[in-house]
Amino acid sequence: MSSPGKRIPVYVWRRFGQSLFFAFFLFLFIKTDYSGSDELTYAVNILFRIDPLLAFCAWLAGKAVIALMLPALITLGLTFVFGRFFCGWVCPMGTLIDGSRFLFPHGRQNFSPAWRRLKYYLLFFLLVASFAGLPLAGYVDPFSLLVRGLTFAVHPALDHALTSFFTFTYQQGPDWLNALTEPVYEILKKHILPFRPKVYALSIFSSLLLSAVIGLSLLERRFFCRNVCPLGGLLALVARFSPFRLQGGSTECGKCRQCRKVCRMGAIDEERNIAGADCTLCLDCLEFCPAGRIHFTWTGRRNAVQPTGITRRAFVATVATGFLAPLVLPSRTLARRADSALIRPPGALAEKEFLGRCVRCGECMKVCIGNALHAAWLEGGFEGVFTPRLAGRIGYCEYNCTLCGQVCPTGAISKLSVSEKHATIIGRAFFDKNRCLPYAKGIPCIVCEEHCPTPDKAIKFRESPVMNSRGEVVVVRQPYVIDELCIGCGICENKCPLSGESAVIVTSEGESRHAGYAGADGY
Ligand code: SF4
Ligand code: SF4
Repeated sequence: MSSPGKRIPVYVWRRFGQSLFFAFFLFLFIKTDYSGSDELTYAVNILFRIDPLLAFCAWLAGKAVIALMLPALITLGLTFVFGRFFCGWVCPMGTLIDGSRFLFPHGRQNFSPAWRRLKYYLLFFLLVASFAGLPLAGYVDPFSLLVRGLTFAVHPALDHALTSFFTFTYQQGPDWLNALTEPVYEILKKHILPFRPKVYALSIFSSLLLSAVIGLSLLERRFFCRNVCPLGGLLALVARFSPFRLQGGSTECGKCRQCRKVCRMGAIDEERNIAGADCTLCLDCLEFCPAGRIHFTWTGRRNAVQPTGITRRAFVATVATGFLAPLVLPSRTLARRADSALIRPPGALAEKEFLGRCVRCGECMKVCIGNALHAAWLEGGFEGVFTPRLAGRIGYCEYNCTLCGQVCPTGAISKLSVSEKHATIIGRAFFDKNRCLPYAKGIPCIVCEEHCPTPDKAIKFRESPVMNSRGEVVVVRQPYVIDELCIGCGICENKCPLSGESAVIVTSEGESRHAGYAGADGY
């Protein structure tokens, strides 16, 4: 081994590479937000588009190749040549798991090698179930898990904590302290914090899932990557064939097993053979081998393709489960009849195609200016969990905004121009006459009409005599909806001044789903 003073250790380069990709991921995450323009200047969804698991599942579910996801083939091609470098250098979930190792310093090594097959079975199940009509990849894909956890829980919590802190210092602190804190707060607001404070449905559930993925390292270092991650499983299957790989275990090796001890993936066996399917090219073994016997080299055909350990019986059972799951999952019956509370974003494809394409990444919910989009629970059936739906009482669809269609990596939401958006109906508003003030109590109220953004106002009034709470007959202007003008943006439901339930409710009735988009993106 060369002297440490003469060169930079390879693990420093790897950590630098991981940090760079993680910073890039965070940059794109932060940029997935409104920043004063209706056009996003960065391809913020690019990391989802290089994810081959999401690409294959979306292609199989839609029975068509989605051109937007073609960059995923580059990841597969590079893995075929260089092995599972993606997991060691690129994947932000892998980096986060590595970075949180200080929380689990005593994670056992080599928990049980049989567990490794789990990721392959999960992968086969997801692929077959997608083909059979139950697209579930977004629930366990590392990018989707991470972005959902950050979007729904971590970023809003950070925003709340920092805003509370700086509000406190502004109100209670002396002038000299404010002179220091206010510029910092301005920078944070401009570059890190969301455009406006947001809350999200399923935030606790999403953060628990993310914590569970990280917490699995308690069992074993990178337990999720070794055993569970189906994206890792797909890359491992391809990496088995890669001609470039790390080689160790020569006869001159001192057999100290130092390489085995430092390997975060448990990829090195007793004979110091390095499994290409498990090795993520972190290069720790190469750095820490005291005899310098490990090399990253072209092995070509000299290396036999390693077995995966998948048994024929388990494979057949997994494939059969994937085919049967869409038939037997009972909550799927919920999706057979549209739920009127399930209002999809403008530009959403027809429900079946939408569910097949949506990878539950949460990008549309993060970018939504009006905080209108939230993760669905069972409104769309089991396969609809984490897909976006409009929750009018929490937020509303901004009339001139088209951002969700711009960030959707799979085209589940079509990219619309502003004029197309104006012509897209996502639902229709109804008045609850038992609650609406002019109907129920004879009290004048025009809040909903004032906020209606359509040029000709979809809410109109007619004068009617009503008995008020004092028993007097008064003439009030009562609102009603012109169906042809209402687009279902939800602002009337959102702004209704009643506490609790709104007196005007938007449902998906009359929605016009997008038929598919054949524009510049070519899908
Ligand atoms: S195994 Fe999965 S989570 Fe782990 S680094 Fe690879 S892709 Fe990321
Ligand atoms: S619809 Fe939303 S959650 Fe689904 S893939 Fe598109 S951006 Fe992601």
